[in-house]
Amino acid sequence: MKDGQLLTSSSTNVTRHTHRLPSTTMGNNFDGEIISKVVRELETKVQELEDGQSCSICMERSRNVAFLCGHTTCSNCAQPLKTCHICRKPITKKINLYS
Ligand SMILES: [Zn+2]
Ligand SMILES: [Zn+2]
Repeated sequence: MKDGQLLTSSSTNVTRHTHRLPSTTMGNNFDGEIISKVVRELETKVQELEDGQSCSICMERSRNVAFLCGHTTCSNCAQPLKTCHICRKPITKKINLYS
């Protein structure tokens, strides 16, 4: 997670450097601001997506097992579960999700 953020911020710096010409017009400055704003918004979106896909028990692995109640965990956390960790419904079937 941290490595990814570092990579993204360093690549934005590189872009900013190459675009920085001695005679920078207002337009170029404006574009740069918009781009860095969009990049920041996208980074937040990616973070949200990654959080949404990770197992809600261990927060590490991605969810790849679903129960009949509709809740999901990773296969590691699903193994010992007898009832759903969220709604407490008994787990009668574990469905493997393939993405
Ligand atoms: Zn897990
Ligand atoms: Zn459930």
